[in-house]
Amino acid sequence: MIPFRIGHGYDVHRYDAERELVLGGVRIPDAHGFGLLGHSDADVLTHAVMDALLGAIGEGDIGRYFPDNDPAYKGISSMLLLKNVLRLVCERGYSLGNLDVTVIAQKPKLSAHIPAIRQSLAKAFGCDVDQINVKATTEEGLGFTGALLGMAAHAVCTLYAE
Ligand code: MG
Repeated sequence: MIPFRIGHGYDVHRYDAERELVLGGVRIPDAHGFGLLGHSDADVLTHAVMDALLGAIGEGDIGRYFPDNDPAYKGISSMLLLKNVLRLVCERGYSLGNLDVTVIAQKPKLSAHIPAIRQSLAKAFGCDVDQINVKATTEEGLGFTGALLGMAAHAVCTLYAE
């Protein structure tokens, strides 16, 4: 068994003014029309985290486990999907070392919500908050995030064998 594994995840969702913004299982109350479109709750941050975890254990991506054309996952909380991925990680005999997430969004401002997002993820993982880092950045008005078309998230995790 490999004692130490690294995974990377990346995801993008389009903005949808009619939807709410949920990041890391936290509803962002002051998103001002910058919700995200998606089959599930479109929690782009949690999607990137799940892909990082699945990547680390060599299990492909969330599209393989939770297809976006499956009605079972319509509107589902991504935190429920994360629980399933964490069960898989645990079954493989791995625990989280640390998780580092970057959300790329021109709007809304996310800094005030980062502590709640860290807490929410730490609770889902059953780990200490200091094992989870969440950052938010803009791309200085460039690219699709700068054009206010959508939001992106990157996640990197380390796992260690129990
Ligand atoms: Mg997604």
